[in-house]
Formats: sequence, C-alpha cells, structure tokens
Amino acid sequence: MGRLHTAVTADQDWFAKRLLSWFDQHGRKNLPWHLDRTPYRVWVSEVMLQQTQVSTVVPYFERFMARFPTVHELAAASDDEVMKHWAGLGYYARARNLHACAKQVSQEHEGIFPDTVEALQALPGIGRSTAGAIVAQALGKRAVILDGNVKRVLARYRMIAGWTGTAAVQKELWRLAEELTPASRTADYTQAIMDLGSMVCRRSNPACGDCPVRSGCHARQAGLTGQYPGKKPRKSLPEREIHLLLCYPLHEPHRILLEKRPPSGIWGGLWSLPQCEPVHVPSDIITAEYGHKVVSIKETGGILHRFTHFQLRIRPLWVQLQPHETGVRDSSLQWCDRSRVGDYGMPKPVRQLVKHFFDSLE
Ligand code: SF4
Repeated sequence: MGRLHTAVTADQDWFAKRLLSWFDQHGRKNLPWHLDRTPYRVWVSEVMLQQTQVSTVVPYFERFMARFPTVHELAAASDDEVMKHWAGLGYYARARNLHACAKQVSQEHEGIFPDTVEALQALPGIGRSTAGAIVAQALGKRAVILDGNVKRVLARYRMIAGWTGTAAVQKELWRLAEELTPASRTADYTQAIMDLGSMVCRRSNPACGDCPVRSGCHARQAGLTGQYPGKKPRKSLPEREIHLLLCYPLHEPHRILLEKRPPSGIWGGLWSLPQCEPVHVPSDIITAEYGHKVVSIKETGGILHRFTHFQLRIRPLWVQLQPHETGVRDSSLQWCDRSRVGDYGMPKPVRQLVKHFFDSLE
C-alpha cells in the first residue's frame, strides 16, 4: 500500500484554495491538450512543454496528434516520421525517448499507460514530474508535479535559496510541492500552479499585484523576488567548429545532398548536411567519403549555435560537384530537390542554411 503523503497543513489549505479560485477565473482551460485529457495526450504535451513555451508547442502538438492520434500509431511510425514532426522543437533526445516509450507502452502494456507515478517513471524519458502530471491530469488522482514554472513559484514563495538544478534545492522543492498539493482537484491544481508560473510569477517582472498567494509569499514580502530562484552558476561553454557542406550538382543547384545523422548524439536521427572538421580538406573528404568530384567551393557566412554543453561554430561551404552515380551509397544519403525540403526533419540551423542557399538562386 502506498504511504500517505502529508497531513493537511493550514498553509496547504490556504495556498490551494487561493490558487484554485484564481484558476477558476484566470487559468488556461482550452489549450489543445486540455480537451480529451488522455494519458497519451497529457504525456505528449508534457514532453513537448519541457524547455519550450506554450505558444511554440501548440501547433506542434496539433500536427503531432493529427498524424499520431494514438500511442499505437506513434509506436508504428518510422524514426524519420517522428523526427520530422519534432524538427524545430529542439532537445531531440525527447523525441527519441518519446518514440521508444510509445513502442514499450504499445507492445508491453497493450497501449495502456501504467496508472502510478512509480510505474510511469520506469518508462523511457518519463521523469517524476511528467509522471505526476499524467496521474493527476489524465487519471484524476493525487500526484505532485515540479516543472520549471512550479520550481520558480515555490522557490519564491518560501525563499528557497540556490540554483534549482542542484540536488539539495530539488529535494527541498519536492518536499514543499508535496506539502502544498491538495488531495482534491489535483488536476486543476497542477494546471493552476503551472499557469501561475507562466502567466503571473514570470521569470522577470513577476506580476505580484495579481498573484493570489502574494500575502503568503516570502520573497515578495522581503522585496527579493528577483533573487529567487538562484541563478545557474555561469561557466563559459567550450566551442567546437565544423564545416557543413551544402553540395549541389553542376548546373542543377535545385538539388542538394542530405545526410542523416546517426541515431544518438547531436541532432540524432535528423537530416543534416554532410560535414567535415576544419582540419580536413573538404574536397578530399567529399571525394573519399561521397565519391563526387568537386568543381568549386565557396565559403559563406557562419552561424554560432548553442547547445546545452557547448557552442558549435558552423562554417558553411557551398560546394559545386561533378556528381558520380555511385556517390549516393546508402539510405543515409539522399539527393533532395528544393520542392521536397519540407519532407525532411532538419535541425533549425541546417534548415536556415538550406533556405539561405535556395533563396540565393532567385
Ligand atoms: Fe510569484 Fe510574486 Fe506570487 Fe510570490 S507574490 S508567488 S513572487 S507572483
């Protein structure tokens, strides 16, 4: 038998009541994932909303649900199809885990998501907060969530010092989240506290005057809302440099060569451009690796793209080729016509480079 969570404290009661009555008047109730709240839909929306704003997620979620209306359809789709529907949302490990999880739920659970936080957390890519959201919002049972918005509200409400990425701060925030989550209306409560974080208790300039729990908020009373939660300690990111090779056949600049990235690592499973390290001679690589003869190479403006752990300085090269038929040697390499570019799931900076190239033809 599961343990009882917490005794109802006066603060919990007050906090939940204030938050829920604010939610009844101001909360968001008509986002696409609020309608027909199945575990599948709540799960997909929660994964998309990690590190991504609601307004960005809405069209992605709608396209995703139109193409993969059930977990079985998602499980049966090709990697390519899933990545294509994720391309542009970033943090691509999320999409790979989503697909792996769909396969597991479809094959091992007959398409039915487990109904406890613990069992959900055993699935690929489902963390404690996502599991809590599925149980609370789709199954209507009491469960606790702690996403980025909730962390900010709670860190300010009780002035919990330190960066929320550290284990000690996370532990304290989970303890407080447990304490404040009520036993009833948990689906609404979890939505309410996320909405409060994104609509009122914003990262900068929180609208404390509109906040339903302002009279109990420690950071507001101390005039220190700007200092909570604590900032991530800054460290300069290491930088890597690569050439992305935009290769096109002589006299046929409407066709370019695309190469699929390996399934893991940066941009894993997405379509990109052939690449080479700056220490290598691009024409040698193109002939040795791809079997084409280089006619000319032109260097164009670079891009600095930031990943979580490093920055990538991309130096694009436009490469005119004398193509050799054996050059496209396997299914991870494809000639892509300008009219078909939209069919390929590509990371944002690559799509930007491809667009810039085709625009230059006009
Ligand atoms: Fe956030 Fe201000 Fe409300 Fe405190 S009073 S929870 S800082 S919006």
